[in-house]
Amino acid sequence: MTHWKVRYSPLPEQFADVDEVMKEIREHLVTCQFTLGPPVQQFERSFADVIGTRHAIGVGSGTDAIMLALKAAGVQPGDEVITAANTFIATVGAIHAAGARPVLVDVTPSYNIDPRLIEAAITPRTRALVPVHYAGEPAEMAPIMAIAARHGLPIVEDACHAIQAHEHGRRAGTFGVAGCFSLHPLKNLNVWGDGGVITTDSDEIAGTLRLLRNHGLRSRDEVEILGHNSRLDSIQAIVGNWLIRQMDDITATRIRYAAMYDRAFAAIADSVTIPVRRPDVKSVYHLYMVTAERRDELYRYLHAQGVEAKIHYPIPLHLQPALARFGYARGDFPVTERLAGRLISLPLDQHLTEDAVAYCAQTVLDFYRR
Ligand SMILES: *Cc1c(COP(=O)(O)O)cnc(C)c1O
Repeated sequence: MTHWKVRYSPLPEQFADVDEVMKEIREHLVTCQFTLGPPVQQFERSFADVIGTRHAIGVGSGTDAIMLALKAAGVQPGDEVITAANTFIATVGAIHAAGARPVLVDVTPSYNIDPRLIEAAITPRTRALVPVHYAGEPAEMAPIMAIAARHGLPIVEDACHAIQAHEHGRRAGTFGVAGCFSLHPLKNLNVWGDGGVITTDSDEIAGTLRLLRNHGLRSRDEVEILGHNSRLDSIQAIVGNWLIRQMDDITATRIRYAAMYDRAFAAIADSVTIPVRRPDVKSVYHLYMVTAERRDELYRYLHAQGVEAKIHYPIPLHLQPALARFGYARGDFPVTERLAGRLISLPLDQHLTEDAVAYCAQTVLDFYRR
């Protein structure tokens, strides 16, 4: 077992009580329908209901969700696609996999793409915008939607962190032509491997996505377009169907624990900065992140005290070797670079106890008050 007092990943606890879902998996396996099939359709229907879209399409991963949605939105090789500089590599990898060039835009101190900087990044080759609802906090969608409309650009949302997040009553995954979600084991709604979902209200985009995820096959014998092999496995859909029933509780618990941290850190505002909590916005705290003075020292202290804090991420994407070809340099995205040196993520999930959250918060307070 772990030596942590408070571990980061809740998966061991999730696996502690799985008899019900294992029985469903065993019952399904005898049908030998391992790809697509009724569990996937059921999951897609439940997911569409949770987000409030006409369609949800299960795919192989969140990365594939973004790549396929970009293709369905008409992105072609040689196009440019704008996204946030402060994101996980998957966003940029998906844009590249769709054949496009990722164009990064700096973020606000609250981690999401800065709408005031987007228009300067638009060129005649720009074909789509990919705002990321980072850490579970919706991007500032009103100005982003206005820019998209002004330039005739589709929005594909990277909502991988943001299932059930709202901005002014509108849910993440419903702003763009498509919303892209990840079911990776560490996401708020997970399966036991890789998986992803795309939400859309467009019958046309949904139809294209159903082709794109399954080799472009219209029927067993007829190939309509060149596609991919990116389906949500039936077994994973069964796991998804089991966990999606707990979604409201998962989200509510995350929000409650985030509020505990926020209250505790209000007392050390000189040392720990909580991002702006906008009114009428529901963050679902995929990551509970703050910026901290002496971050690396705090991180080591937390680990020494048994708190498995994480850093998402110490090296900004534009300074990664894989992105050297795009010609970015240190200084290009000052807010993102500053965040990389200061962000820290604390354990936060539905399986933690209140005592565990209180211990993590107290340990941060202890560090600054020693
Ligand atoms: C997890 C994640 C994705 C997609 O990840 P997969 O592991 O492919 O499901 C995309 N964008 C962001 C910001 C993510 O954190």
